[in-house]
Amino acid sequence: MQLPSLQMPVFPPGWVWLTGAGPGDPGLLTLHAVNALNQADVVIYDALVGEAILACARPGALLEYAGKRGGKPSPKQRDISLRLVELAQQGKRVLRLKGGDPFVFGRGAEEALSLREAGIPFRVIPGISAGVGGLAYAGIPLTHRDTNSCVTFLTGHNASGEVPDSVDWAAMVRASPVLVIYMAIKHLDILVSKLRHAGLAGERPAALVSHATLPEMRVLRSNLDRIVADAETARVEPPALLVVGEVVDLHALFGSSDLQARLAPPCPIAI
Ligand code: SAH
Repeated sequence: MQLPSLQMPVFPPGWVWLTGAGPGDPGLLTLHAVNALNQADVVIYDALVGEAILACARPGALLEYAGKRGGKPSPKQRDISLRLVELAQQGKRVLRLKGGDPFVFGRGAEEALSLREAGIPFRVIPGISAGVGGLAYAGIPLTHRDTNSCVTFLTGHNASGEVPDSVDWAAMVRASPVLVIYMAIKHLDILVSKLRHAGLAGERPAALVSHATLPEMRVLRSNLDRIVADAETARVEPPALLVVGEVVDLHALFGSSDLQARLAPPCPIAI
């Protein structure tokens, strides 16, 4: 397949491009992300960016890991920002590659502010967030006219890794029939008990979607009363999203869609 010829931006030396890599399947990279990978001198990537995506980097590009690995503490956000500044000041084309979208629970805003403060030019390349593209692959539509006209995205972790206490849980469950919770595994029990105390019924449909869009994707359908026990039994591993609401039941009608990945044998693509 040939794509129509597109005018893609040139990556200038000394710039940082803060880029979303999507939820995992390399096919969900944007053309801008591929264009950035084709030109970057250095790729600073997070744990959620897989090898198949890194393999799209220009041969000879330096790949530098900036995430948590092997139980070691993750590098401090400040150190990552300083590294981006340092490389840009050396005149490198710096691709900061993050899972999903850089501005959705991804600390992209902090990095952008640090770059601005240091006077480093940057652009932001959005990506498909796991809560959108990942759930589509899992066969859970975010909206259906019969069930919800609004969706709320929230995070299960605050800056210190705890369940955020700034959230008005009661107001949230009243206002939003569908909740999509990122970073849901570590404190799953606390999250579920907050939702129950806030007024959601135990039978409320809930699902965990782990490794969405990747070959190891799993969808665990349950309800609020059972989901903690079900997740333990099924040994659900991060990264995973918790989805709460009636849209979860539509999964039974669609099934996990593997249409995206396996309709046809892979073929090379020219960009
Ligand atoms: N910026 C990212 C989110 C970073 S926070 C985005 O827009 O998607 C990390 C959390 O994202 C994980 O704990 C998990 O809840 C979710 N996540 C990212 N990739 C995922 C995937 N492939 N499957 C399921 N959840 C994923």
